Amino acid sequence: MNRKSFLKSTLASALALTSIKSWSFGRSYNSKFPVMSLEQTMLEVAPFSLPALPYSPESLEPSIDKTTMEIHHGRHHKAYVDNLNKAVVGTAVEKASLLDILKEAGKQSPAIRNNAGGHWNHTFFWNILSPKGGGVPTGALADAITATFGSFDKFKEEFAKAATGRFGSGWAWLLVQDKKLVISSTPNQDNPLMDVAEKKGEPILGLDVWEHAYYLKYQNKRADYIAAFWNVVSWDAVSKNFENAVK
Ligand code: MN
Repeated sequence: MNRKSFLKSTLASALALTSIKSWSFGRSYNSKFPVMSLEQTMLEVAPFSLPALPYSPESLEPSIDKTTMEIHHGRHHKAYVDNLNKAVVGTAVEKASLLDILKEAGKQSPAIRNNAGGHWNHTFFWNILSPKGGGVPTGALADAITATFGSFDKFKEEFAKAATGRFGSGWAWLLVQDKKLVISSTPNQDNPLMDVAEKKGEPILGLDVWEHAYYLKYQNKRADYIAAFWNVVSWDAVSKNFENAVK
């Protein structure tokens, strides 16, 4: 082995070691599931699969606790995937992508609409959270938030209002509609990608306000859960969603 290839292989093993180390952090939980991006999930056709969390389930503590994350992902999200797989058998969307099913949600059975929404919403939600989240948005997204809502704090107030005001189960969203930022909320597992949504567009931030998302730690205090959510929002991920949506 010459010096150049020695250096190359040393570097390669150092990199491999680093990735193994960061991967093994969440291995005990996440190794059961395939690693998939949101884009891969959107384009997948049945049988759909439950993607691994992009981080370990304890890493969002104390804002969102480990047990809630494990149950929310491993049982609730898994149930949406399993039930969607059962519901599409023998239907016109048996070989349709998740995104195509959502776009025509109004034509689907309640089982397909709810479980397709549940699968997409949760995959999206895991991807806009991060153990390194929190802080404030920057760049073009920060400018758009200030221009639309007056300030970041005012935006958070409006978003929290949509999240607390959603009666029963549902989601709060920040979406891009005709290149403009809009706040909305949807019931059950609906989302702004669906033809049936009151406000349609590209979601860039979402918050699950079903009780299963917060009840273990916050009980009936939805407002406390919403306040803690801001500590784990990945503004990097939301900015990327924004840039793709306004392209
Ligand atoms: Mn949920």
